[in-house]
This record gives sequence, C-alpha cells and structure tokens, in this order.
Amino acid sequence: MVLPPCFHRCRGKIYWRPATVHRILANQIYKGIFVWNGSAFTKAKAKRRRKKVEEVEFERPKLLIVSSELWADCNQKVKGMAARSGGKYPLSGVIHCGVCNALLSLKKAKNSCSVHCPQCEQANRVGGHHDFIGYSSLAAAKLALEWCLGKVFTGDVLKELHARLQARLESGPEGEKADLKRRIEELEVTLHRIKRLSLDPDIGDEFFKKDLTAALAEQKTKKAQLDALLSRESHVSKESVARQSAIDPLALMRRLLNGEPEAYKVRATLRRLISKFKFVARPTRYVSVYELTFIPGVGVAEVSETDVIDDTGVSFRVTVSTTARRPVVWVVEGERI
Ligand SMILES: [Zn+2]
Repeated sequence: MVLPPCFHRCRGKIYWRPATVHRILANQIYKGIFVWNGSAFTKAKAKRRRKKVEEVEFERPKLLIVSSELWADCNQKVKGMAARSGGKYPLSGVIHCGVCNALLSLKKAKNSCSVHCPQCEQANRVGGHHDFIGYSSLAAAKLALEWCLGKVFTGDVLKELHARLQARLESGPEGEKADLKRRIEELEVTLHRIKRLSLDPDIGDEFFKKDLTAALAEQKTKKAQLDALLSRESHVSKESVARQSAIDPLALMRRLLNGEPEAYKVRATLRRLISKFKFVARPTRYVSVYELTFIPGVGVAEVSETDVIDDTGVSFRVTVSTTARRPVVWVVEGERI
C-alpha cells in the first residue's frame, strides 16, 4: 500500500485525492524526461521570492516507464479546469478539518470563496466514512477569527494575560530553581558515595548497579529541567514584560487580516498565534461552527518584537450564521471553552 503525501497530518483512514493523482500522472519523469526546476514546489518557492526560474529538460531514458503516447493520452488539456487557488489567501493552510484534521481547501466561486475538507469529501465520494461536514465559506471563517481576536486582545482574556506576565516577573521561578539545584547536589553526593563503595573489593559494583543507574537518570532529567528554566528565565525581563503588557495588538491583528502585508507573512503570524483553527460542524445550511485556540502571549511577543514569555492557550467555539436572504447579513456568536 502506498500512502498519499502528508498522510501523517490526518487522522483515521487516508484517501488519495484526485488532484494528487493528477500531479503524479503529469510528472514527465515517467516518460523519461527530467525537468530541472519543474516541480510545483520549486515554482511556488520562486514565486514567493519573486524570482524567475527557467525549466530545463533532460532526457533520462533509463527512467522511462510509459511511452510518450500513453503519457500524452493521460495528460490531455482539459478546458476550463479550475486553477488551484488559495495561495493568496492568508487563511489557506491555517484551517483544519474537525473530523480528520486535514488542511481545508479554499475554492474560489464567483464572488466568494468556499472552504471544505477535500479528504472527507473524497471519503464520502468513494464510500468511506460519511462524516463529511460540508462546505463553509472563507467569509464565515474570517468572521469567526475576527470575533475571537476581539476577545483575545480585549477584556478578561487580555487582563488574564497581563496578570500572568506580571506574575512571571514577580515570583520568578526562584523556588523551583533552588529545589532543583539542591536535588542535583544531593545526587552528586550519592553518586560519589556509590562509586567509592563499589571500588571496595568485598562489596563489588554489582550490588549498586540499580541505584547507580537510577541516580544517573534522575541527575540527567533534573539538569535538563534546570537548563530549561534558566533559558526561559533569560527572556523574562522587566522591560520585555512592560513592552508586552503595554501594546495593543488588536489594531495590528485587524490590519493583518485585511491583508496589508503579503499573505504568506500573515499566514506565518497566524500559524504561530493560532494553535488550533478547526471547522467542526455545520448544523444546518448557512451555519458553520469553528473552534479556535490562541496563544495570546505569542501575539504580544510578535508585535513588541520580544521573546515569548507566556504560552498559555485560550479556546473558543464560534457559530457563524446567515440566511438565504440577500444582501448577506452575518450573525456571529461564540463562547469560551
Ligand atoms: Zn476531514
């Protein structure tokens, strides 16, 4: 059995999607032609960096497994085939499926953009599971995100973040640090004693083997804990806490969502700030339910250009609904979970 690419990202049974199979069939290597700079990955990377790459074809007759005629038959030009979109949308590559965890696909349709799970859709189509949630829209996903951002960087959630930052500064990890240091010293004494006793020919080292292994293992973990504590501590300065507490990230987040910087930059920030963004249910037509988890500490660190001090998450469940009536009127409701 050959699993499709990115199978590790999805839960449950995995399905090959038509576009993936199409990409394989379209690879010229099977008719014995290697195209340097020909992969979609190379082209996308070049486009992002605003570079032009030139494709060069090399004949590799040893790698040929199908005739040129057969390859051409499998790759006839299809008129009007929809181009894959999403690359220019900041939210593409951010939203996951609530059922199987696959990345949701964004498809442009007339004036709007739909959002759905291609993996579950394919399962549904080929007679696998029937948990396909269905289609939502990019507008609904964006509204859910905006609603959450409004909660994450205002009111209680922001107050809680400020309190946590302050607490880190005030108490510091002094107690924990002292405990770890004391235990490491104790372990050193124990180890020294065991080593000395094991040198005694009347006793021998067999007797202490278990104790020695246990003490060495504990010493190793305690040292690692102490190192982690010290490195985290170096980020927590009065200045960085003050900077992270003083900024108002909401305005910047809104600008981000409106796509002011380039889409891929927004995507990078969103991926760090949002630890979960899932389309979880579609109770009826025109109603989408999303679940999102944010790490507000990442947002304030990013905006103030300091290191992350607090990585506590905050989660919401948001329902975005509309009706068939036009013009479209959205209703967004949510709660903290
Ligand atoms: Zn899915």
